Amino acid sequence: MAGEPQADCLFCKIVAKEVPATVVRETETTLAFRDINPQAPTHVLVIPKVHHPDAASLAAAEPEIAADVLREAGEVAAQEQSDSYRIVFNTGTGAGQTVFHAHAHVLGGRGLQWPPG
Ligand code: 5GP
Ligand code: ZN
Repeated sequence: MAGEPQADCLFCKIVAKEVPATVVRETETTLAFRDINPQAPTHVLVIPKVHHPDAASLAAAEPEIAADVLREAGEVAAQEQSDSYRIVFNTGTGAGQTVFHAHAHVLGGRGLQWPPG
């Protein structure tokens, strides 16, 4: 069923505390933790606790939780004292998505080029 934990999903395992992570914020519906391979001084992943394969699927199925993810992305940036930051939702393998549990990358702490690669 949509939203149910998936046995083979890394981020469901992090939500279940079966895989450790450096958690920076947690709410009833979201978890924010540091990326294991940071691409910027601030690189935090904000995920919904429920499983959906990507951000658009999450927004279609559970829009309030998609809003929670976005709000928490802003709270992470504020906590990290990043005035300028980027929220990225890689979607699909061609865009670099490797974990198919919706997640926002929050990147900051350095200048960020536009357009992105
Ligand atoms: P994607 O490539 O799907 O947009 O983002 C997945 C992110 O998860 C990558 O930036 C990758 O470094 C991060 N990642 C992969 N495995 C782990 C892990 O076990 N722990 C943490 N904290 N991050 C991970
Ligand atoms: Zn999952």
